Amino acid sequence: MQPIRIDEKRALAHLMDLLAIEGLSGSETKVAAAVKKKARAAGARPGWIKFDDAAKRIGDGYQVGNLIVTLPGTIKAPRRLLMGHMDTVPLCRGAVPVRRGNRIVSQGNTGLGADNRTAVACMVTVLENVLTRGLDHPPLTFCFTVGEEVGLRGALALRKKDLSNPKLGFNIDGGDPRDLWIGALGADRWEVDVRGVSAHAGVHPDHGVSAALIAARAIEDAAARGYFGKIRMKGKTGTANVGVIRGGEATNQVTDRVYVKGESRSHDVRFKARITDVWRAAFERQAKRVKNNKGVQGRAVFRSETDYDPFQIDRRAPVVLEAVAAAKQVGLKLRLRSAEGGLDANHVNAKGIPTVTMGAGQHGPHTVDEYVNVREYLDGCRLALRVATV
Ligand SMILES: [Zn+2]
Repeated sequence: MQPIRIDEKRALAHLMDLLAIEGLSGSETKVAAAVKKKARAAGARPGWIKFDDAAKRIGDGYQVGNLIVTLPGTIKAPRRLLMGHMDTVPLCRGAVPVRRGNRIVSQGNTGLGADNRTAVACMVTVLENVLTRGLDHPPLTFCFTVGEEVGLRGALALRKKDLSNPKLGFNIDGGDPRDLWIGALGADRWEVDVRGVSAHAGVHPDHGVSAALIAARAIEDAAARGYFGKIRMKGKTGTANVGVIRGGEATNQVTDRVYVKGESRSHDVRFKARITDVWRAAFERQAKRVKNNKGVQGRAVFRSETDYDPFQIDRRAPVVLEAVAAAKQVGLKLRLRSAEGGLDANHVNAKGIPTVTMGAGQHGPHTVDEYVNVREYLDGCRLALRVATV
């Protein structure tokens, strides 16, 4: 086994470079170009670097797909995947990173983009170390995903064959590298078109069917059953939220259309579906109960889709044991945890690549107080390098 050391100055320089580049979801071109340049400088052959066709399949003006760098191994072993997302949230627009002691923060009133440029820089550092120091390693795939912050879109579009069929996956998207995320919850997104009947609210309110009233009652219906906010039901847990309500044009008109958008989450895939079903039933039930003077009922057209399914990797699975052993060699004792939010790893696990998520020092994501813990970032780099080498 080779000792795990890295050139900390270079690892930090990569991070500072990458933090300074703007790259919101769907606009990752400049980040990808910087990664490609750094990979080439480290000795990656042009034929190892490619984009998949995710941009075309996602549409929505996506500039580039997922950037994939594939290395042949120097030893025979199952291929390993290292991945992390390139995009940052809009709050990070114009971020200027500055070093303050053990932290890197943003100079102005913006986010920093530590979520998830710490991962991008960490992967570049691993790639550079592997190629320039002649470290022995299994076949490796580095995948820099797009569109994570807007619903894990790049990861959803990934194809196993474009990744050259890795057997173990290590996603980097977190803070303290001592936390290893071996599970994450799943989420459904749903929307409802509530349809009523319009009428003059002063002259003939009885001719109308109020979509506003249906929506209000449906929300109360689900809440009264215990399915709003934090949900606890016979040992199952989850959450539900109504995030958007839009509708109506004038006070003198019975509202005939209201649009409602919400979500359901749970670590249990069946319970997640159950939550969504309760909401569907609540809207359909209440729509039927609101009628006008002629007995005309309201209508609720409910559509739901799986955002991502939950996953839970066995604590004794090879990918977990590998991460734990690697951490030990770097001097870190891992805590195995489950995430309360979706990760790119959700989709990669669903595609049959067991993938854990590690941290590389990002903190306070999606806030103006976001920062990098430098010591954790460097530990994250050493851990990732150990995972990628033998
Ligand atoms: Zn992230």
